[in-house]
Amino acid sequence: MIGGKGMDHPNTPHGWAIRLSQIIKAYHTAHGMEAFPIDVAKIASEFSKQVFPDAPITMIEGQSFKKFEGMLVPHPSGNGEWGIIYNDSITSKGRINFTLAHELGHYLMYRHLNSDGIKCITKDMYKWDSDYGQMEAEANVFASFLLMPLDDFRQQIAGEQISMELMQHLSNRYGVSISAAILKWLDITEKRAMIVVGIDGFIDWAWSSKPLIKSGIYYRARQETKPLPPLSLAARNDTTVDNIAGIEHPKRGFGWVMKKCMR
Ligand SMILES: [Zn+2]
Repeated sequence: MIGGKGMDHPNTPHGWAIRLSQIIKAYHTAHGMEAFPIDVAKIASEFSKQVFPDAPITMIEGQSFKKFEGMLVPHPSGNGEWGIIYNDSITSKGRINFTLAHELGHYLMYRHLNSDGIKCITKDMYKWDSDYGQMEAEANVFASFLLMPLDDFRQQIAGEQISMELMQHLSNRYGVSISAAILKWLDITEKRAMIVVGIDGFIDWAWSSKPLIKSGIYYRARQETKPLPPLSLAARNDTTVDNIAGIEHPKRGFGWVMKKCMR
């Protein structure tokens, strides 16, 4: 793997993701490997060893937690080494992959400021607009751009009908959860769109594309308890409906329901 020692280090999550993507691309090409998905654990240990030999990531392992999604921890002996621990009670490979990338983001951008390590709470990581602050948001941006580089992502969706099938394809290609693929798409789309995730018939969290936020439609996390829109796929719980293609709603019909719920 190419090290890049002596080069100036990026200081933004995008910058770091682009730097690593270039190295990974060169490595995959040189070894005749498929471009995706990215093996985050391997990247984390090899890149850190070569570029930060005084602070390599020498341990990546799963542990069972209740509350934490993952953590970045210093070696208890104080020898400068770092470890990434993910929650292995989570069974989704895509979610674990995203967590590893998120923790790698913390390592690259924040380990100097957090010598005791960083613990990431599940709730905060998946609420994209988390109060946990800039640090969590930046680690998520880094993970998203590392696992799903923008140029390739745009190529994959160009001219395609937006559907759950397309999101499933992106999820498989990049080794991420479907939610992570949808959030990435929402981040770059010109369409007015929203993801709404429900638990037991109520909205757990939601995220709008920028054009939709401009229209004043968004969900304020934690400030309101709202039932899922009754016409939505999740609320209908209708097994005769194809969950992959989705449901076409009449104009105004669904939109009206969403607006009433969200405002
Ligand atoms: Zn975090």
